[in-house]
Amino acid sequence: MSVHPAPSAAPFTNEPLLDTFGRVADDLRLSVTDRCNFRCTYCMPAEGLKWLPKDEILSFEELARLLRLFVRLGVRSVKVTGGEPTVRADLPSLVAMLREAAPGVDMSMTTNGVLLDRLARPLADSGLDRVTVSLDSLLRHRFEEMTRRDALDRVLAGIRAAEDAGLVPIKINCVVIGGTNEDEVVEFARWSREHGHAVRFIEYMPLDAEHAWERAKVVPSARILEAIDAVYPLVADGPDHEPATSYRFADGSAGGVGVIASVTEPFCDSCNRLRITAEGQLRACLFALDESDLRTPMRSGAVDEDLEELIRSNVWAKWSGHRINHPDFVQPERSMSAIGG
Ligand code: SAM
Ligand code: SF4
Repeated sequence: MSVHPAPSAAPFTNEPLLDTFGRVADDLRLSVTDRCNFRCTYCMPAEGLKWLPKDEILSFEELARLLRLFVRLGVRSVKVTGGEPTVRADLPSLVAMLREAAPGVDMSMTTNGVLLDRLARPLADSGLDRVTVSLDSLLRHRFEEMTRRDALDRVLAGIRAAEDAGLVPIKINCVVIGGTNEDEVVEFARWSREHGHAVRFIEYMPLDAEHAWERAKVVPSARILEAIDAVYPLVADGPDHEPATSYRFADGSAGGVGVIASVTEPFCDSCNRLRITAEGQLRACLFALDESDLRTPMRSGAVDEDLEELIRSNVWAKWSGHRINHPDFVQPERSMSAIGG
């Protein structure tokens, strides 16, 4: 059986971005760089990756143009990501341009947090609404082991700076890896109660650059919830237009937890996401094997209607879901940092 859906003509109408399975894509992840100042073991090799030359990265104007177009096509929320978005030079100016292109849209950023201590305020002033900060361990030595950077204190300071700057509600992303940080999930829940930031536990996905992912290292989200619920009873929260399933604490405490169970409980049926890589490739799925180049036509004089046609075709051809749990699964060539997670 082919892993690709049959190519099909997309209907060009004023409709939102629809695929053949009736899903509407209205959430865009915009990667602003492929570079990173961390080297998380589950994402990048210690020596980093071969970075894109500068002229291959979308310019501020190109990013703003694409965002304006996607908003016209129904996108309601945009997440600035990377690589590490905060290493893009003059990020606050870019965010200001994105805000101007998409005044009414929820705009957030996923970051490792290490530069937030000095960037949180300028980013908030430029119109960023909120941040999600990745934090895989609350123990200094383990944080260093997982990110290959001794930067826990700076990330915690970054989270405080984001709070002070009003980039709230802050969400925390924690990738749980069996045999590494699984024993910290209850401590993360305690930390969430203390600080009021919801922690989302992400299952380890086969998107690491070194292709070292092992199913045995995936910690099922159900097991994480069970461990937390035994100490801090949980109550399911309503759906919040996110792949994360969210819970609040039954005793009414601040904070909360969520799980992103991409491997053990895929949510492809309700996936509303699109991604644009730093060099302008549109991907309808994290695990997509096909992408649509938007940069080349943009640089060859394409008008918005030409781009719209490319975008609609790509979305229309989105497959039903990833095949991580199928024997014919093929890991995409791009790793998480090169896609824009
Ligand atoms: N550098 C930023 C950061 O780390 O938050 C943004 C980009 S990063 C690629 C986006 C998210 O992907 C992070 O929360 C990171 O933990 C997650 N991630 C990276 N590799 C992953 C993997 N193999 N499985 C699951 N999540 C992963
Ligand atoms: Fe960098 Fe984020 Fe990948 Fe870590 S997960 S190496 S911070 S891009």
